[in-house]
Amino acid sequence: MARLIAVSNRVSPPGEAGVASSGGLAMALAAALRESAGIWFGWSGRTVDAYTGQLSIDRVGGVTVATVDLEEQDRQEYYNGYANKTLWPLFHYRMDLAAYERSFDAGYVRVNERFADALQPLVEADDVLWVQDYHLLPLARELRRRGITNKIGFFLHIPWPARRVFTTLPRHADLASALLDYDLIGFQTADDRDAFAGYLTQSAQGLVTSQGHVSAFGKQSRIGAFPIGIDTTDFQRAATSPTAVTAFRAMRRSMAGRKMILGVDRLDYSKGLEERLLAYEQLLSDRPDTLEKVFLLQIATLSRDDVDAYQDLRARLDAVSGRINGAFATVEWVPIRYVNRSYRRDQLAGIYRAAQVGLVTPLRDGMNLVAKEYVAAQDPDNPGVLVLSEFAGAAAQMTEALIVNPFSREDMAEAIRRALTMPKSERRRRWRSLMDGVARDSVEMWRDRFVAALEAVSPADIAIQARG
Ligand code: UDP
Repeated sequence: MARLIAVSNRVSPPGEAGVASSGGLAMALAAALRESAGIWFGWSGRTVDAYTGQLSIDRVGGVTVATVDLEEQDRQEYYNGYANKTLWPLFHYRMDLAAYERSFDAGYVRVNERFADALQPLVEADDVLWVQDYHLLPLARELRRRGITNKIGFFLHIPWPARRVFTTLPRHADLASALLDYDLIGFQTADDRDAFAGYLTQSAQGLVTSQGHVSAFGKQSRIGAFPIGIDTTDFQRAATSPTAVTAFRAMRRSMAGRKMILGVDRLDYSKGLEERLLAYEQLLSDRPDTLEKVFLLQIATLSRDDVDAYQDLRARLDAVSGRINGAFATVEWVPIRYVNRSYRRDQLAGIYRAAQVGLVTPLRDGMNLVAKEYVAAQDPDNPGVLVLSEFAGAAAQMTEALIVNPFSREDMAEAIRRALTMPKSERRRRWRSLMDGVARDSVEMWRDRFVAALEAVSPADIAIQARG
């Protein structure tokens, strides 16, 4: 195995607590980096008065970590700006929220140039580079301009939008063309991959073969779908850890015999939280037999709270949850427990296990790992039911969930009702099939498939196939 260099906006190798504090992605990348004596490169998360490009090299959890500090202007234009106010809303189909400012675009390119400058001296002849996510779409172009000819792969964790959505982005061709400087471009689903392919063929006079060889803008590359998973073994272990068992028991006690419907999300407009609350309200109105028998626990962890759209959403959710509680609560029962704090993963695992229904209904989501964690945390003898949006990347794999359209209140209310009353035999059958998939398509599998595909890329092969 060649030495691997992982690149991402933020660098987060797992600490001692393992999966309790880090996500599966961090664990899987860290394991591959340890194995190949590789490096994890990215932004330190800190800002300094004037950019120096000075690298900080540390060892964290057995992984070599190289980071650079950025300037405050970089944070505003590259991170808060182009990444989170332009690309994030657009790629989640929120053209109404996407802000196009030239300073954002310029800051985004500048930071990608800075990353390339800082990374270049670390790269040795046979290294394989793997760049993560939408913050770094043009990084390969900048590395190529600096003479780096190594294999470089890219994985997009968020959706790739439909062609006509993507083409609303000013200078979209420049961004798409920059992507073709990667040797392999990975997407979460076949839909995302095909949306990108559609853009290349219909808007960029490109060619795409059925094997995923693409050529456009005078360059060749490969595309593929590589759905990410969770560290299933570790998550299942976390779900039966003493912390999880304590969280489970505390939850069950506080449920007082009622059934719990659970949502766990970052507070983000892509997660469909308002639609979810309204669907739950519809259930309570249509089905008086559910009153005082069920409740919704919505954990909505604050994120990007310095961006206006997130503050607006937070205010709306406060209002909607308050209104529904005001309308339906009794002195002994509150229909919605709405919580803005965040929990450790082992605590979450215990809470997942206590819930009869896992409600994962984003309007658009790259994958949604909560859906997979919810399944992995269930008691095999008495599992809960996953209600899953058809617009989560996970829906392509998790077909035994109750699949819903999150834009339809009726559809969601009916699915929740069905989940609440589903016989145990059906719950077990569906769970078994979901669990087999979650165990098989783990984050390690995702990593190994991607790295193997990247290592297998041969430039000559690409050129021939794309011409054919
Ligand atoms: N999460 C957590 N504590 C919380 C809420 C969420 O650790 O209080 C984790 C959750 O376990 C999951 C991740 O945050 O691994 C969310 O990932 P997902 O793919 O569902 O959505 P994203 O936030 O990446 O859009």
